Amino acid sequence: MKKFKARLNSTFNSINTKIAIVFMLMLLATIEVIGAYFTRQLEQNSIESFQSSIQIQTIVSNQLANQLTSDNKNTNDRLNQIVNDYNNDAISEIIVVDNKDTIRAVSNLNDKSKIGQRINNTDVKQVISTGHQVNKVVDDHGNYMIQISPLTSGNGSNNTVGAIYVKASMQDVFNNLRQISLTFLIASLIAALLGAFLSLVISRAITQPIEEMQKQALHIADGDYSSQVKIYSNDELGQLAKAFNTLSVRIERSQEESDSERRRLDSVLSHMSDGVLATDRHGNVSVVNHMALNFLNKKEDEVINKPIAEVLGLKDTSSQDLISSQKEIVVTLDPGTRDEIILHASFSLIKRVTGFVSGSVCVLHDVTEQQKNEDSQRQFVSNVSHELRTPLTSLQAYIEALNEGAWKDPEIAPKFLEVTQQETSRMIRMINDLLSLSRMDRGVSKMDLEFVNLNDFVNHILNRFDMIVKTDKNKEKKKYTIKRELGSQALWVEIDTDKMMQVIDNIMNNAIKYSPDGGVITVRMTQNQDHVILSISDQGLGIPRKDLGKIFDRFYRVDKARSRAQGGTGLGLAIAKEIVEAHHGRIWADSNEGKGSTFYISLPYEPMTEEDDWDEV
Ligand code: ADP
Repeated sequence: MKKFKARLNSTFNSINTKIAIVFMLMLLATIEVIGAYFTRQLEQNSIESFQSSIQIQTIVSNQLANQLTSDNKNTNDRLNQIVNDYNNDAISEIIVVDNKDTIRAVSNLNDKSKIGQRINNTDVKQVISTGHQVNKVVDDHGNYMIQISPLTSGNGSNNTVGAIYVKASMQDVFNNLRQISLTFLIASLIAALLGAFLSLVISRAITQPIEEMQKQALHIADGDYSSQVKIYSNDELGQLAKAFNTLSVRIERSQEESDSERRRLDSVLSHMSDGVLATDRHGNVSVVNHMALNFLNKKEDEVINKPIAEVLGLKDTSSQDLISSQKEIVVTLDPGTRDEIILHASFSLIKRVTGFVSGSVCVLHDVTEQQKNEDSQRQFVSNVSHELRTPLTSLQAYIEALNEGAWKDPEIAPKFLEVTQQETSRMIRMINDLLSLSRMDRGVSKMDLEFVNLNDFVNHILNRFDMIVKTDKNKEKKKYTIKRELGSQALWVEIDTDKMMQVIDNIMNNAIKYSPDGGVITVRMTQNQDHVILSISDQGLGIPRKDLGKIFDRFYRVDKARSRAQGGTGLGLAIAKEIVEAHHGRIWADSNEGKGSTFYISLPYEPMTEEDDWDEV
């Protein structure tokens, strides 16, 4: 039912139906106006011609007037005779009245009794008194024409001697008129229907191309440009259809262009190493690229339509302020489950030609590494200054004391001089360490690689350490024992012997430095398929777990005072790490606090095959 109603509604709303209805109504109105005029005219003409058809002939009226003025006794008979002679089928009643209003003759035999009676009809009396004819149509159980004509004697028209009353039925006339009207009505209805049909055909011819264009417009709105509007003619509608087809092709082309532009932009956005966020003019995010989501560690639906300040975790700033200020800010993202990310965010406004701000673009650049480098550089400079200032301050103090007279004191002076010498050589060591680190940082430290049997190489270094303990008679010097678990297999590795010796020396020296007197230092060598691992364990005070990862950082010392007192620079392990990594190896430490530490050096190793042995020979 609803469907039917909707269909009916759309039918009545269509231009097609409207044109047909308007055309039909106009046609009907025209026909009706013409018809009304025509029937009116026809009716008038019919009445006039009927009127003249019943007009009493002059000869008869003269005869009647003569009889009325005659003195004959049988005048009435004569009058009736004339009336009856004159009577015909069209006339239903004739009455002759003299100028005294007395009925003198009648045509109806049934009304004979009325003869001699006075007539009661005012029209007749008026005609007798005025001498003017009266014509009127009356409805007396049917339509009749009544014509009352004066009868005048020959001496002039003013001499009215009576009147003749003629009543004639107009039934036929009216029947005719009705028939004509009916025919006219049917004809006009047929004409109206024909007109409606024709107007439907014509309006269909007009509206069909329009309907097709409407359908095409809907297809275009849905993104389908494949169909074309049919061109029926070369008139205005045909031209419009042609223009429409051209328009559709142009829209398709520009749509394709904007699609490919968008795809290109999408691909640029998604392959950018920077994060991009676009917002509307209220600061709510409308576009986000893959990299930005990566930085923010969020899913797209957690970002889209959210205020940009909230997305960037800026609680104290409103999104509006953020985008309108167009400032460049550094955002440190809440690390959550992963490492901290520092982003540089720059904002720019998107403006239309009119100057209206329609949104903004925020570009996020990952500056974590840069920031960390800057931080560590700052830290490094501050550390270097601090590390150099401490020995210099004590040097200054000792030199001042000597200058102020202590040099004369034979007991104090040598001690002071020894301390200044120690501090100076520590400073020189530190500067040398810094220089070799700087060389490695700049990549100018060349590697002088050679194949050596690591077992022989380590044994050679350890022999030196054993020799130091044996030959050093200084009772105050710390004693230690080196335990070797190296195995007898030759392990050929490619190393820069000077640098690798520096690494092992540093770890051995630390092991001795941080071990108790008489401690055992175990040096072990193990190997697997592609690595050889050298480990050096001591029984010293160990390293707290929290510091294990940091001891390879420059200037990091677990106990600063103790390290300095031992003449340490805090750079040894940092240099060791750089050297081992330059050999594509790895260095790390493990420790049991209070019980000792173990340092591991892992180096890439390729076991020698028999063929290699043969080559050697
Ligand atoms: P340092 O010149 O101070 O020894 P290193 O870079 O060689 O500098 O060592 C860094 C820090 O690591 C030391 O200050 C010390 O706190 C710790 N450390 C190194 N080796 C050992 C070890 N065998 N036992 C305990 N602590 C150690």
